[in-house]
Order: sequence, then structure tokens, then C-alpha cells
Amino acid sequence: MRIILLGAPGAGKGTVAKLLSDHDGSVQISTGDILRKAVKDGTELGAEAKGFMDRGDLVPDSLIMRIMEMRLQEPDCEKGFILDGFPRTIPQAEALKALLEKLNIILDFVVNLEVPKAVILDRLTTRRTCSNPECQEIYNIKSNPPTDDGKCTKCGSPVIQRDDETEEAILNRLETYNEKTAPLIGFYKGEKLLKSFESLSSMETVNEIKKHLG
Ligand code: AMP
Repeated sequence: MRIILLGAPGAGKGTVAKLLSDHDGSVQISTGDILRKAVKDGTELGAEAKGFMDRGDLVPDSLIMRIMEMRLQEPDCEKGFILDGFPRTIPQAEALKALLEKLNIILDFVVNLEVPKAVILDRLTTRRTCSNPECQEIYNIKSNPPTDDGKCTKCGSPVIQRDDETEEAILNRLETYNEKTAPLIGFYKGEKLLKSFESLSSMETVNEIKKHLG
């Protein structure tokens, strides 16, 4: 499959992307995961991105497009891909459209995950993430906790609260989403690619998405 997942932070894009990837081997491409790994590895890209990320601001479009132009040409994308957290702005969506045309890639559709704001706020404040950049398994202290001593059940690394999941950064991320990313819903409606799903359960949403795949 070749799809884009849209949705506010905390809408469940990461979880849905992982489940879809298990379904047919399409690769999950999360710009957030790529950036967090770059920060952890101390690369130049990570140094450039860290300040924006910690505040809950978007990193510049030019930097994201540099990453994605290379990433979409890696061999594992030939089987299909699920874009999670990209594009996040209209300029990114326009640049992606041009890039896909250049690479002769046709998208199946764009999924918009609709989740009520109260659910999103609760999810984000209770969310924890595995600190291992290769793993990044997502936990929730209420509904899906890590081990009793706070370790990842998959890889054993400490499970942490992300720097951008303080209340202040979360509110900023939601505001940024409304201002910069929500307009993509209209953009992809105009492209006749948008499919919206009310998404309270990731599993049910994945089953719905699968029904729409040819
Ligand atoms: P995420 O894990 O997708 O919520 O991303 C975490 C942070 O990484 C965001 O708050 C942004 O600072 C940055 N980021 C991830 N993807 C993008 C993108 N496509 N454009 C700009 N910034 C991004």
C-alpha cells in the first residue's frame, strides 16, 4: 500500500501505521522517529531539529524534504509505504506531490484519523515511549503500561516521557497542528484522495482501512 496518515498528535497514527505495516510489509516512515533517532545519535540533522522539537514546533520544511527525498528512494519503499507524520504543512504536501510525480509513484489514498480533542489530550499526557531509537514502542500508563520497573516489554530499554510531551509542549503541538497541518485535510479533499475515519480503536480503524485497499 502507499498511503499517508493524517491526524492530530495523539490520534494514533503510529499505532495504526505499525498494524498496517504488519499486514502487508509496507514500511512505516515516521519523520518524528527519524528525527528522534538523529537527535539521539547526535548527528548534524539532529542538532538542527532538537530545539524545534522540544518546544513542539515544526522543524523547517526544507530539512524534512531533504530527509524524505532520500528516504522514499530507499529499496524497502518498493513494497509500499505508510507515511506517518508527514506531510505536516501545505508546502510539504506540494513538495511531496512533485516528488512522487518525479519518482512515478501513485498514492492509494490519504487517511484522516478523527479523534475527539479530550481523548487526544488524555492520550498524550499518559503516553510513554521506549527510549531505544530502534524500537520506540508506545505505551500508556493507564491502558498499556510498560513493566513494573518501567522497561520496554519488547527490548528491555527504559520507557520514558518524551521531551515534547510536557503539558506546555503538548498544547503548542496541538495549536501547531490546527494552524499548519489541519489545512491538509482540505488539500487532499481537493486532490480527491481523502478518506476520513472516526478512530477510537486503532484495531477497528485498521480493519476499515484494509477494506478500502484494492
Ligand atoms: P511526531 O512524533 O510525529 O509527533 O513528531 C515529533 C516532532 O518532530 C514534531 O513535533 C516536530 O517538531 C517534528 N516533526 C516530525 N515530523 C515533522 C514534519 N513532517 N514536519 C515538521 N516537523 C516534523
